[in-house]
Amino acid sequence: MKKRIRVLDTTLRDGSQAEGVSFSVSDRLVIASKLDEFGVDYVEGGFPLSNPKEAEFFNELKKRRLKKAKPVAFGMTRRKDTSAKEDAGVASLIAAGTPAVTVVAKTWDLHVQAVLRTSLRESLNMIEDTVSHLKSHGLEVLFDAEHFFDGYRDNKEFALKALRVAAGAGADAVVLCDTNGGSLPAEIEVVVRDVASQFELPLGIHTHNDSGVAVAGSLAAVDAGATHVQGTINGFGERCGNADLTALIPNLVLKKGRTCRCGRNLAKLTELSRFVYEVANVSLQNNQPYVGESAFAHKSGLHADAVAKKTTTFEHVTPGLVGNERRFLVSELAGSSALLAKAERYKLLRDKDARRKVLKRIKELERDGYHFEAAEGSFELIARKLLGGYERFFEPLEYRVVVNRKGGEHETVTEASLKVRVGDAMEHVVSEGDGPVNALDNALRKALEPFFPELRNVRLIDYKVRVIDAVAGTAAKVRVIVQSKDHESTWGTVGVSENIIDASWEAILDSVEYKLIKERAERSRK
Ligand SMILES: [Zn+2]
Repeated sequence: MKKRIRVLDTTLRDGSQAEGVSFSVSDRLVIASKLDEFGVDYVEGGFPLSNPKEAEFFNELKKRRLKKAKPVAFGMTRRKDTSAKEDAGVASLIAAGTPAVTVVAKTWDLHVQAVLRTSLRESLNMIEDTVSHLKSHGLEVLFDAEHFFDGYRDNKEFALKALRVAAGAGADAVVLCDTNGGSLPAEIEVVVRDVASQFELPLGIHTHNDSGVAVAGSLAAVDAGATHVQGTINGFGERCGNADLTALIPNLVLKKGRTCRCGRNLAKLTELSRFVYEVANVSLQNNQPYVGESAFAHKSGLHADAVAKKTTTFEHVTPGLVGNERRFLVSELAGSSALLAKAERYKLLRDKDARRKVLKRIKELERDGYHFEAAEGSFELIARKLLGGYERFFEPLEYRVVVNRKGGEHETVTEASLKVRVGDAMEHVVSEGDGPVNALDNALRKALEPFFPELRNVRLIDYKVRVIDAVAGTAAKVRVIVQSKDHESTWGTVGVSENIIDASWEAILDSVEYKLIKERAERSRK
């Protein structure tokens, strides 16, 4: 029976070293509790000595407590030529009040001599003294062997000696670190196997992604006997990042049949990944394995056709296992199967002729510059217009937008006036806005909300404009994609025109029509 894998998440410590990532104390607290909920064994929270934000996080954590995960404070062995008892860094580790601590020490002789500038003997004393002092305070001690793989390559005897000293002083686990991220999986496997043959205590692996193989290196280490893995959510970390737990964990559970406490929550992995992106204010990486938006998106007609017949043909795992979903992108490449699977969600396009009809129309529109990959709302309206199920709730008759910049005052006023027919009523409204699109959106709402109060909870959350390559002799067109949102869902709509306001207007109209149709369909289902 293979041993259970323990997972240490270091998003808050190593992950916060990533360029562009900075976590506040409250960010740290929400991420820690999300990781706890997900089921990681350890949450490494930071470096209490180096950073007051991290020390404050540990103070706050003492009040709240995680349910199952152990919070871990991180620090170094004592400085040279002193004692662990008198060392401020070691004291801050104890003061953090966590049940477990990580102590990092140099296990590469080059670093001892060139960076620490002390003797190999003293560097081993530092390990001995620090680990045994922390053990005497009743702490679980994880020993991070920094630069271990480089050290093993250059001076194997010293690197192994450092581990032996840590183990002898009572370390609970020894974690082999590929700090520079330069080691390849085959080498990691050989080294870990050698270490595993000489040590009884649990071995851990901590890899960086500088060679693009951090996850592969960690998997190789587990194959060779490591039972403790370290990494970050989304692979956040300095330079090229750390081993990405959102790939490492599903690989261990789904591909290698290993067990870990978070294994049963694998279906929450995608949500966890996006949550961390959101809190870190970093945009999603679409092609991220397992959890990316595109991880199970099928575009080519041939692939989509095969996947619709049997999902295993082009999918390595079922997306739902990691909480992700299969998507079929509508595009020029898509055959009718992609369309079918997409439309199945709306119970449209059951028969072949209907599908062919819609596909033909989509292709025409794509030639005109439309794009439906991010505009499912507009896609559904087209399908309904061709096949039935479309209802016209209002008729826009005329709009006018005036942008007036008053000289000298740097104040630009935008006003939109709008005529819309709703049933027998004729609405004529005027609205102001921050710009022409905003003014038009405001005017449309003003005209329609008295008739359709459900529009009050719709918000425009994103607006993107793309210039489409002009064909010789014609003016350039723009494509506008609008993302809208209500309490339950988000949807995209698209407009194309040579006139940016017209393109925007088209996308906004689609958004409103889609909302009204969606609402009507939901009501009739109830
Ligand atoms: Zn690291």
